[in-house]
Amino acid sequence: MKTTLTCPKCGGGKIWRIDRFTTPSEYEGGSEMHVVIDRGPKEPLLTVGSFDAYVCHGCGYTEFYGRHLAELRHMPSSGVHLLERPGTAPYR
Ligand SMILES: [Zn+2]
Repeated sequence: MKTTLTCPKCGGGKIWRIDRFTTPSEYEGGSEMHVVIDRGPKEPLLTVGSFDAYVCHGCGYTEFYGRHLAELRHMPSSGVHLLERPGTAPYR
């Protein structure tokens, strides 16, 4: 949808792009959506990246695209999993 500007669900061609998707909060301007990783009781929460949203004007189907996610690491115990298609070179 991001590159084709065509909704994969309804075929619509009007797509909203919302940069750095933000949700309402008690803070002025809202709270930007991040990946928040709980690394255990002795480590502070790790906050990584933000997301752009692409929303179909016709049906509301939405895709999120992460940005600035370079700090993400495979940490299954924290609920962060890097899934790789077999045959994919590691660390690309
Ligand atoms: Zn649609």
